[in-house]
Amino acid sequence: MKIICIGRNYHAHIEELNNAVPDEPVLFIKPETALLRDNEPFIYPPFSTNIHYEAEVVIHVAQSGKNIPEHEAAEYYDKIGLGIDFTARDIQDKAKQKGLPWFTAKGFDGSAVISELLPKSTFKNLKTLHFQLDINKKPVQKGDTALMIHSMDAIITAASKFVTLLPGDLIMTGTPAGVGPIHPGDCIEGYLENRKLLDFIVSKG
Ligand code: MG
Repeated sequence: MKIICIGRNYHAHIEELNNAVPDEPVLFIKPETALLRDNEPFIYPPFSTNIHYEAEVVIHVAQSGKNIPEHEAAEYYDKIGLGIDFTARDIQDKAKQKGLPWFTAKGFDGSAVISELLPKSTFKNLKTLHFQLDINKKPVQKGDTALMIHSMDAIITAASKFVTLLPGDLIMTGTPAGVGPIHPGDCIEGYLENRKLLDFIVSKG
């Protein structure tokens, strides 16, 4: 399986990192070894001193498809969850300056935290899903899928132009404003429509 991610999908987050609004979705991929599930602790890696959290809604691909038209995209995902796209911001900043890929900044082990996935039917309206991330009981990110630049359906269409989607693939749909650093000992809790789906700690590497 693969984890497809979209960058720069919320205006306020684009502004906080001084990035330009992209014409096309900015897509990248995390390998399967990036997965961190079941609220296992995140182990702070030794190669970075500036790991940032990015809370994101996650969609689970239900069936394989290529070149999926947007009006059919909803048939290709069946479950929704919450995730964190952990990012080594120090490594990413260097890569951005040099125009190099983000692989090591975004693809390292444990960098894709994925919650329990719930059937789509659990939610009344996927177009306005509220989500929130708390660190040490303090809210740091609040997002709503209504504010996405590219909708879930549009991301499916965009990604499937380039790669075949397979059942079990996961898509991380971008982070709202409020990203920031984590530290060993932090307690991280995430809520999707007031359901607590993430609850884990950052431990020292
Ligand atoms: Mg992200």
